[in-house]
Amino acid sequence: MIGMVRQMLTCHWSGRRIERYLDADPSAPLTQAEVARLETHLASCERCAKLADQHRALHRALSLWSGPAYVDPAAVNRVRTFLDELTEGRA
Ligand SMILES: [Zn+2]
Repeated sequence: MIGMVRQMLTCHWSGRRIERYLDADPSAPLTQAEVARLETHLASCERCAKLADQHRALHRALSLWSGPAYVDPAAVNRVRTFLDELTEGRA
């Protein structure tokens, strides 16, 4: 039971950082310890690994939209809502 709670907390912790991890956002970088912890968790947690895959797919999709192409904000919001639900453990 304690292990389960700890796992859920780690999922929550990881979910909050996956986006920054994939973005490598220079304004909010993860520490090396955070990256190591996140990578360890992704290697052992199917749910968070899937979440990271979703983020990667989203990033890829967004990066394909270059130039004057229009990005439907509703579509982006739908993906974001889906990711939030995964992160919050409601999905
Ligand atoms: Zn997890």
